[in-house]
Amino acid sequence: SPTIGVFALQGDVREHLHALAGLGVEAIGVRRPSELERCDGLIIPGGESTTMFKLARTFELFEPIQKRIAGGMPTFGTCAGMIMLADRIVDGTSDQETLGGLDITVRRNAFGRQVDSFEGNLDFTGLDDPVHAVFIRAPWVEQVGADVEVLARVASGDAAGRIVAVRQGPLLATSFHPEVGSDSRIHRVFVEMVVSTSSTAAGLGKGR
Ligand code: GLN
Repeated sequence: SPTIGVFALQGDVREHLHALAGLGVEAIGVRRPSELERCDGLIIPGGESTTMFKLARTFELFEPIQKRIAGGMPTFGTCAGMIMLADRIVDGTSDQETLGGLDITVRRNAFGRQVDSFEGNLDFTGLDDPVHAVFIRAPWVEQVGADVEVLARVASGDAAGRIVAVRQGPLLATSFHPEVGSDSRIHRVFVEMVVSTSSTAAGLGKGR
């Protein structure tokens, strides 16, 4: 069975580890390159993306993670993690660097200060019943490249129609926090992505 890492220098690491453990997956916190090497997939949690970026640099994880993403490692970003995976960010202030890989443009803190946090139900492609999504100073996706599949949009209100979940090959990202609460269906989607990728790799190995 695969090992899934959770980027553990900042953010809601425990919630992701808990969700993965609930699915019977071996899950480890990743704070150094040797831990990343053990992983078949990686989750980048919610938190604060500017801080995450700086810590990833300081702890020499930035380039190793970028290389693994470029090499096809399944990676799932939630909220700040989505920002880390985005190729482009707009937030009106800085040109923050990201890990990249996902051909999307995200707007940080997109929903505005007056609605810092909110919850709502949304349809999620591939899941039968709606997801109860928790948004905390969340980004939204303003633009997606041709290879990006939109999985969910805000259902109603001022932000109705805004894209809040995407997939591009082995990369999955949500604006909201599937790690909060007890619904692990989106984690299961990611685990299946990791399992299918690592069994393909194992199959290739056996053929040699
Ligand atoms: N606003 C945060 C950022 O820009 C993300 C918030 C979150 O992950 N809950 O990084």
